[in-house]
Amino acid sequence: MTNSGSDRPGEFEMIARLFAPLSHSAPGAFGLTDDAATIAPPAGEELVVTADALVEGVHFLRDDPPESIAKKSLRMNLSDLAAKGAKPMAYLLALSLPDWIDIAWLETFARGLGEDQRAYEIHLIGGDTTRTPGPLTLAITAMGSIPRGTMIRRSGAQAGDLIFVSGTIGDAGGGLAILKGEGDSISDAQRAALIARYREPLPRVTLGLALRGIASASLDVSDGLLADLGHIAETSKVRIAVDVMRVPLSPALQACWRDDQVARVRAATAGDDYEIAFTAPEANRSVVLEAAAGAGVAVTEIGRAEAGHGVVLLDAGGREIAVPRKGFTHF
Ligand SMILES: [Mg+2]
Repeated sequence: MTNSGSDRPGEFEMIARLFAPLSHSAPGAFGLTDDAATIAPPAGEELVVTADALVEGVHFLRDDPPESIAKKSLRMNLSDLAAKGAKPMAYLLALSLPDWIDIAWLETFARGLGEDQRAYEIHLIGGDTTRTPGPLTLAITAMGSIPRGTMIRRSGAQAGDLIFVSGTIGDAGGGLAILKGEGDSISDAQRAALIARYREPLPRVTLGLALRGIASASLDVSDGLLADLGHIAETSKVRIAVDVMRVPLSPALQACWRDDQVARVRAATAGDDYEIAFTAPEANRSVVLEAAAGAGVAVTEIGRAEAGHGVVLLDAGGREIAVPRKGFTHF
């Protein structure tokens, strides 16, 4: 890949050969043969740029299939673009590889990237590969495009706006719990469904595009629904109240964690959902639901923004639930 700084040229040439085909549809990538790439958004649009790093043991497990690790790393970035209303264009990939990674692993990894590139219409345009004595680490910088000035910010929520979330919440947390030994009582199909949500999240790219001009604030749920809504509350200077029993749970998660308040609190404070949480004026409610139907994604109204600050979970009687931990914290 571009800028490859390695003392094992044979191996790294092979890596370049694996990754160069992923760049062939991007004219400014020059087949990964130059020091840098060029990229231009369509006329009248601007680039939306986001970066996410994934570390073995933190975002994925060493035994996860290489194609799943590839897809999760790309999809985490696609999820950020989706939450901003951006159309995916291109990405850069930096790999820090420990010695246990072999060419067969990399071939499977590259195949996973290729499958997602076709699914989400995004192209590799460059990156870097190094060795590391530490854990496997992947850093992706993704770029999308959006009509100038229309990126959906975190800061646009107003008191009175409704709170929505796409898909279902807590499935990835359930999948991780299963990989760590929970969930003996549920069916194999349900276990597989939850583990798939942990390993291969589903970025809501089509929904994100449909929310342009409709949502007042938006972000993707990575650290936990409650923690991430807290970011909207803080930047928008509103209080966000979420009705815990409206937090959407999948049938598989209900089987695994039950369908009570405890399960919904746990789901709202688990992480790795990669759903879109957003706000919209009440007048846009039907437009939101039409946009979601058009995108083929379920969207659930879960609460309301009010004057004040912070984020709270309310029980079925409207009383505030004490939540010791709102989500995943990295430090
Ligand atoms: Mg995000």
